[in-house]
Amino acid sequence: MQRFQELLSTFHTLCLGAIVLGVLIFAAGLIPNYAYYFVLQSTFVFLIIALGLSIYFNKSKLFVLLLFPLFFNLALAFPSTLFTKLSAPAFWYITPLALSLGYLFIYALQERGLFSSFGLLRSGIGLAILTSSFLLLKNFSPQMQKALESDLLHVSLKALFKAPDFVVIISLITLIFIFFVSLLFEVNTQKAPFWMLCAQLIPTLWIQDKNSFILFSLIASLIAIAALIHDAYRMAYIDTLIGVPGRRALEESFLRLGSRYSIAMVDIDHFKKFNDRFGHDVGDEVLKLVATILATVKNRGKVYRYGGEEFTILFHSTKQEECVLALEEIREKIFARGFAIRDKSRPEKAPKKGEKQTSIKKERLSVSIGFAISRKNKTPHEIVKLADEALYKAKESGRNCLISH
Ligand code: GH3
Ligand code: MG
Ligand code: MG
Repeated sequence: MQRFQELLSTFHTLCLGAIVLGVLIFAAGLIPNYAYYFVLQSTFVFLIIALGLSIYFNKSKLFVLLLFPLFFNLALAFPSTLFTKLSAPAFWYITPLALSLGYLFIYALQERGLFSSFGLLRSGIGLAILTSSFLLLKNFSPQMQKALESDLLHVSLKALFKAPDFVVIISLITLIFIFFVSLLFEVNTQKAPFWMLCAQLIPTLWIQDKNSFILFSLIASLIAIAALIHDAYRMAYIDTLIGVPGRRALEESFLRLGSRYSIAMVDIDHFKKFNDRFGHDVGDEVLKLVATILATVKNRGKVYRYGGEEFTILFHSTKQEECVLALEEIREKIFARGFAIRDKSRPEKAPKKGEKQTSIKKERLSVSIGFAISRKNKTPHEIVKLADEALYKAKESGRNCLISH
């Protein structure tokens, strides 16, 4: 969980950093005008890569959302081919409106993959909005401009934004909606649309400069690529059931180990009883609880799921006393916590204040631990074996204890 939070905060920082960098680069005029031709080419290349990755990873939300910057950059790149005349107000009014409405509807639909009825529905909505945008851009009239520019609020937002009030309001509603909905998700591909929309609204609501739109579309495509790669990493290395790194991540960390480290093998005692008596779902909950407590281990221990109900804790230290102290602390923590099970025969009504609650039963929960320190001429796998032998002894000695090799 800790590691996961680290990943998430890294992703948010990355997106914010990219957007701030974009603003600074543009404001300082670091890219000369003639170079924007190459920025435009790069934007198309990265948008196509992002679209390809979202097809590969079956992410329909990102796929359809990426069609928006692709379409509007094509409109900028080929104004006279696609439109007889593309006026500036047409582009700067219709683009943020279409982006916001598109993101609002497309983001609200659940992610069920690209090649499903949900995926088709999402693509259909996206294409309908883009087709409408195409027609609006092509037939933009002064009357439409006037209608969009009409004052909606007592205080005009003109002092803050270049875009008309109506467009700004729709954009802000969408941004706030996506921000709050994205808090429900843990994966970066669900967080990315908020940042992608931010990146595309900055040039359309504030700057209203063609080159800035191209630059920020490039940033949006990079955000999408980073999210897709980050999630792919997570899928490969983080155990999705319990949220700690899995065996593959452990094998990888063995390659980077120095000569001084310690390994603890942790196994839940009588875990089968949770599965047999209360079902697999309860078994999974027990695994999650134990993983969460193990992750709080001190002395910078890192927790991995070795397999089944067995965990490995890796310390970059050979100080036996400190490691054993940290391990004993979490062993006791798990035992003291126990596992609360809701009694099926509990009454329908919640107990009144002061009434004794009898519906929660506490099951005994404990772990046994085997510990071994690195030694010369032995590989990490051999140290795991030594820790496993110590674990076996801990089980034989009555469980809920730690034995060092
Ligand atoms: P001991 O104290 O000797 O370790 O007893 P135990 O019951 O924990 O030992 P055993 O290794 O025989 O049981 C492990 C069980 O863990 C068997 C398997 O069905 C269950 N298991 C493995 N992975 C999962 C999982 O992801 N979810 C659930 N619910 N059960 C799992
Ligand atoms: Mg066990
Ligand atoms: Mg076991």
